[in-house]
Amino acid sequence: MTPAYQLQCIDCHATYDPAEIIYTCPSCGGLLEVVYDLPSIEIDFHRSGECRSVWKYRALLPVDIEPVTIQEGGTPLYRLRRLFREIDANSRSREIFVKHEGLNPTGSFKDRGMTVGVSKAIELGMRTVACASTGNTSASLATYAARAGIPAVVLLPGGKVALGKVAQALIHGAKVLNIRGNFDEALKLVRQVCDEYGFYLLNSINPFRLEGQKTIAFEIADELGWEVPDRVILPVGNAGNISAIYKGFKELKSCGITDSIPKMTGIQAEGARPVVDAIDRGLEAIEPERKPETIATAIRIGDPVNAAKALRAIRESGGLAISVTDEEIIDAQRDLASLEGIGVEPASAASVAGMRRLIAEGLIDADERIVCVTTGHILKDPTEVVDVCAKPTWVDADIEAVKKAVFG
Ligand SMILES: *Cc1c(COP(=O)(O)O)cnc(C)c1O
Ligand SMILES: [Zn+2]
Repeated sequence: MTPAYQLQCIDCHATYDPAEIIYTCPSCGGLLEVVYDLPSIEIDFHRSGECRSVWKYRALLPVDIEPVTIQEGGTPLYRLRRLFREIDANSRSREIFVKHEGLNPTGSFKDRGMTVGVSKAIELGMRTVACASTGNTSASLATYAARAGIPAVVLLPGGKVALGKVAQALIHGAKVLNIRGNFDEALKLVRQVCDEYGFYLLNSINPFRLEGQKTIAFEIADELGWEVPDRVILPVGNAGNISAIYKGFKELKSCGITDSIPKMTGIQAEGARPVVDAIDRGLEAIEPERKPETIATAIRIGDPVNAAKALRAIRESGGLAISVTDEEIIDAQRDLASLEGIGVEPASAASVAGMRRLIAEGLIDADERIVCVTTGHILKDPTEVVDVCAKPTWVDADIEAVKKAVFG
């Protein structure tokens, strides 16, 4: 049986058997993506009764075995209210939503990629999975590898990964290496290790992993009654997620399920903004930032591997790319938490910080329907939270002291 999907190079368009273990085009080195023979696939996403989750959309997922799953996806899409009034008092027609990916099983959207990626690893007969990670990828890979019963090896930029994420990778049983170097260096190393030892690489250069992440687009459209928002705003690190979500919206449109594509809008941190620079300067490719720096460690990446896909997603969709300061990120994180009850880690708050800036500068229309993706949960990075918040007040275990502290 010919599979209904293949791997295809985004540059030279050569196609490859999806059972080949390749991460880039053997002929030109370009990035690969999974392409489907859409007319031959029966798609019935409207089926009643089935809850939203990654596997609801399995007709458009490249996995042919029972998946390794712990119920990913189905995350809430919240309409902003108090924060909305604060940042957008003048607009009556604008609608702002937050898709809170921090409510996935391990606390980040990476689970959508890993349920597909680890399932694919099993289907392909791979015995060990590996990744480099700013934290969440390692937490998620360790979890799904545990579920599948195979070993995971993860390389972290030592000392630069939030505490909660390291804890997850450790307790789920991954082999955790702290590299004396940054994420970009860790990724180069893990690619060599995978080539040499036949480990299955599950960074977002892996095209199957991105297929899981495209279900964010499916869920957003599904929840909006198969309409698409005007704009989707999200943080950009290694640039896989923005590429995946764009692909998801394109597929829905190709299938005739929806009729437009949102303007894909990527937000980076001021100290790590190679994609923003490339968009600003009209470059064909990014120029890597050698010393990326930001409090938002999940997007502390100077040489995003999926840049070529992300630049296309932003340009083809008529989107934007801007950067925000660490201060703006912290403010947005605090406001989301204190005005909306949505607790996210710093990188995730970059999406809302970016939206706030775009609205203030009048760069987006007043009647847009906007979805901000918040990528990870607040508990991922407790150290940062405690650092930026007011400290608890110490009081004696005495009622007068407590009264004084509360009212005084
Ligand atoms: C991985 C991650 C990102 C960046 O996603 P990319 O696909 O690498 O651009 C942003 N926020 C959080 C919380 C993440 O874990
Ligand atoms: Zn190629």
